[in-house]
Amino acid sequence: MATRTEYLEADYVIVGVGAMGMAFADELLSASDATMIIVDQRPQPGGHWNDGYPFLRLHGARSRYGVGSRFLGACEIDTVSLNAGMGRLPSPAEICGYYDTVMPQRLLPSGRVTYLRLCEHIEGGRVTSRLSRRSFRVDACKTVVDGTYTNTKLAATHPPSVDRDWARMLIINAENQRRWTKNPDLAAWMTESRLDGTAGIVPSTEAVAAQMTSARQRFKQEIGRAHCNTPSRSAPCA
Ligand SMILES: Cc1cc2nc3c(=O)[nH]c(=O)nc-3n(C[C@H](O)[C@H](O)[C@H](O)COP(=O)(O)OP(=O)(O)OC[C@H]3O[C@@H](n4cnc5c(N)ncnc54)[C@H](O)[C@@H]3O)c2cc1C
Repeated sequence: MATRTEYLEADYVIVGVGAMGMAFADELLSASDATMIIVDQRPQPGGHWNDGYPFLRLHGARSRYGVGSRFLGACEIDTVSLNAGMGRLPSPAEICGYYDTVMPQRLLPSGRVTYLRLCEHIEGGRVTSRLSRRSFRVDACKTVVDGTYTNTKLAATHPPSVDRDWARMLIINAENQRRWTKNPDLAAWMTESRLDGTAGIVPSTEAVAAQMTSARQRFKQEIGRAHCNTPSRSAPCA
């Protein structure tokens, strides 16, 4: 059966609706009247968190994660386990649930977002559905935003290639931060945005400073054992 190509156009085409694509779309909605087409090959937003093991947790502060317009749930304090005394760390299910709320409650009702889920973006603006025979040609009046370039891969779906995958991601993030500070508009945005993970790490009181020191000590104690358990390490733990 022949497929028919549908033509779609918007100011921005955002490829990938993980944390990066979602945060960008949310900011664009607040800061402009632009239209956007969002394409993702997965069935729901949230990117790699959809593949996360249940025991995986967001390790950073939830107040600094997600989209700018909406907090990622309320912070509760854990009373047991290694994380006792610290804010509860969201699970992959909670993170995906959050993004799955932002899409229908915030992005889609604006009338400015077209969401092509289960669709793969191929070079030259071609998009094919993974579910049906539909295919699209998507054009951006302003630009195509690549929300896939961190190329995140979890061991759940891709066996680790090298034990430096994590370092690769940190380098990408550090390079982004460096480039953003060179652009006055982006630098100004970063000082205002709660999503800048490097800001505000200065403890507000002595009690908070003591808590942070204690957490760092616990982290140092446990990191060795955790590292021993990664697949690339065959040496037995001491
Ligand atoms: C295990 C793990 C834990 C992490 N924990 C934290 C944390 O606690 N705090 C923190 O700040 N960061 C953390 N990170 C960093 C993490 O990379 C970011 O938080 C973020 O989730 C990455 O989002 P992303 O949008 O860049 O990529 P992804 O989540 O990978 O999203 C990219 C999306 O693009 C889609 N896509 C790719 N190619 C195509 C295509 N051709 N067509 C259509 N769609 C396509 C994919 O389906 C995917 O949905 C963690 C990363 C990992 C791997």
